[in-house]
Amino acid sequence: MDITQTKFDPSAVRDDFPILNQRIHRDRQLIYFDSGASSQRPQSVLDAMDECYHRTYANVHRGIHCLSEQATDQYEQARARVQSFINAPNNNEVIFTSGTTASINLVAHAWGNEHIKAGDEILLTIFEHHSNIIPWQQLAVRTGAKVRFVGVNDQGELDLEDLQRQLNANTKMLAFAAISNVLGTTTPVSEIVQLAKTVGATTLVDAAQSVPHEATDVQVWDADFVTFSGHKMLGPSGVGILWGKQAILESMPPFLGGGSMIDQVTTDGFTPGELPAKFEAGTPPIVEAIGLGAAIDYLNSIKMAPIAQHEHELVKASYAVISKIDGLRILGPNANDRAGMVSFVVEGVSPQDISILLDQQGIAIRAGHHCAMPLHQSLGIRASCRASFYFYNTLDEVAQFGEALTKVVARLR
Ligand code: PLP
Repeated sequence: MDITQTKFDPSAVRDDFPILNQRIHRDRQLIYFDSGASSQRPQSVLDAMDECYHRTYANVHRGIHCLSEQATDQYEQARARVQSFINAPNNNEVIFTSGTTASINLVAHAWGNEHIKAGDEILLTIFEHHSNIIPWQQLAVRTGAKVRFVGVNDQGELDLEDLQRQLNANTKMLAFAAISNVLGTTTPVSEIVQLAKTVGATTLVDAAQSVPHEATDVQVWDADFVTFSGHKMLGPSGVGILWGKQAILESMPPFLGGGSMIDQVTTDGFTPGELPAKFEAGTPPIVEAIGLGAAIDYLNSIKMAPIAQHEHELVKASYAVISKIDGLRILGPNANDRAGMVSFVVEGVSPQDISILLDQQGIAIRAGHHCAMPLHQSLGIRASCRASFYFYNTLDEVAQFGEALTKVVARLR
């Protein structure tokens, strides 16, 4: 993480996020530390979507009337923004889906059904979100393949030695998160992709927690597939991205069948259309994609390096305050080596109780298994608390959180 960049001042953007400027529960100022689950949206995203619904909305790629042409144009401009944001070589490699979950399911079906057979191995990490576990388990049930998991080392990092031990000629897919949504662990994506190539495995990077927070270059990563969600990066829910290398996407059969994804249909059958339409059956998330385009414009106006640097400072500050709490254990790597979230457990205290009492003071964190049950099982715990930050959070909010958490834990003991 480059911390030599100019300092980012979150107060300069707070007014862009009307939802953050409110008081809840007996007049407490809202402190939103749940952006890992879903971020908030700036006014410019709300305006772009509102404008579309008010003036230019129509179905896309279907009409030759004015509104349809305008909506299609905006929808395709959003695709171009995504392409440039992740440095994808080709526009038609960017597929709009409903989110990371849908993107991974698309690959597990359209690619997996063709390429995975009994005896093959699908390698994941133990800290994957259920979205990057269950589609592969379902594929394994369909085909007789085996799903295996790479562990983490004592520092909370992905155990690369274990990864190398488990990669073998049977490994056909290596699917892993660029950033763990619980541990905050960042994985060396390019290095892992290169390791996968040595055994000829296809790779998928679940970038749901990384694309919103740091610059992404899919050409540098060189994975076969990359997936992420709009709602975690200032965009609306209901839209996400599957990026894949053109050749592999072209070789895959369609996943969903329906309107827009065809070239020809007769009573005997159909021929699929070209990319990206082949994977965008039905009416797509039109306004949501336009909202995502506006979110990318906003992120570009701030730039990703200062965002990553500011979140790093928030993490360091939160470590400093909460690690003083007796019996509190922070999950994952140390403060210098992790993404913008902190998950923790407190001996003898329920994570849910902590979250409920913090909420009463206006502080929104998440408690539970964070859709990562296998990780929690491997850590010997059922649940944890997670405070996840975005660039609109301030050091002052972290200080208030530390103070409130200290009091809450003392009260619950
Ligand atoms: N992968 C990771 C790492 C996540 O954090 C999440 C959501 O929290 C997902 C996948 C699923 O994303 P979505 O619910 O937007 O499909």
